[in-house]
Amino acid sequence: MTGIKIGIVGVGKIARDQHIPSLAADPDWALAAVASRAHVDVGVPAFPSLEAMLEQGPTIDAVALCTPPQVRWRTAVAALNAGKHVFLEKPPGVSVGEVRDLAALAADNKVTLFTSWHSRFAAGVPTAKAWLADRRIRRVDIQWREDVRRWHPGQTWIWEAGGLGVFDPGINALSILTEIMPREVFVTGAALDIPANVQSPVAAHIEMTDLDATTISADFDFLQTGPQTWSIEIETDTEKLCLSLGGAVLDIGGRRIVEAADTEYPGLYRRFSALIRSGQSDIDVRPLALVADAFLLGRRTLVEPFVE
Ligand code: NAP
Repeated sequence: MTGIKIGIVGVGKIARDQHIPSLAADPDWALAAVASRAHVDVGVPAFPSLEAMLEQGPTIDAVALCTPPQVRWRTAVAALNAGKHVFLEKPPGVSVGEVRDLAALAADNKVTLFTSWHSRFAAGVPTAKAWLADRRIRRVDIQWREDVRRWHPGQTWIWEAGGLGVFDPGINALSILTEIMPREVFVTGAALDIPANVQSPVAAHIEMTDLDATTISADFDFLQTGPQTWSIEIETDTEKLCLSLGGAVLDIGGRRIVEAADTEYPGLYRRFSALIRSGQSDIDVRPLALVADAFLLGRRTLVEPFVE
């Protein structure tokens, strides 16, 4: 087996849909084991927990934590203390403080910590960032609307405290925003719709700005049936930029500039291997900090219970 040996913790939707296929396609990586509470067969040894994988499994260099955010800190601490490089699925934790703690632990143990933000690896994002760098931005409008029943069936953790609710997809938009805006953005107000039977919002509106007084707003909706929308429109002093399909498509001034699917997880794993090889970490809490501030500032409205 060649490549960096990695173990996956949590064999759920994202591990199966993206991590396992991306690792298999990249010769820099070798999936060596998985840790799962269930009995899974993905062609490598499986263990009931990270601890069992570390104690009884094959030697590994790194772990990818694909569990819900509420249990990420605990497993990350165990992996970092075992000297493993750690890939954190997004969001990197349930609080900004947790991630800062992990950053210090990774530095102490001289291993790589990667707070992955997959949407930043969507095909249109780097070109959008470069194009915006020297433009005057007037207005940003984010529309992130998807059907939770279609994309997150049975994921009860999403509705619990720390599960983020509609911010679970919404934070992807915020990860793109914080990547492409030339100035830091911050939250000035928010409105959160919270179903009466759960802890996390089903819809949210966020107002943001920056030192240029740019008008930035985001609408997140978890009950969008029919066409799904993951778009960011940016009005500048010249043309309008539009990222759609989660950043896979970029139009500027009505012209198609970039269009490519399935770049995100291959890009994440190229980045993770480059970080390990150069002995660096990539830790960015800004998208999570925007979510935390939206929860701090948000005016809450109780709405009808969510029933899957
Ligand atoms: P999921 O389908 O619910 O899978 C999560 C897995 O984590 C479970 O299958 C389970 O795997 C394990 N797990 C460990 N402790 C758990 C607990 N207390 N409750 C529930 N599961 C537990 O979720 P997912 O969609 O893969 O999302 C996992 C993370 O990836 C989330 O942070 C999410 O935001 C992120 N993500 C998801 C997507 C997506 O499209 N779904 C995209 C990008 C990022 P075992 O049974 O194997 O232990």
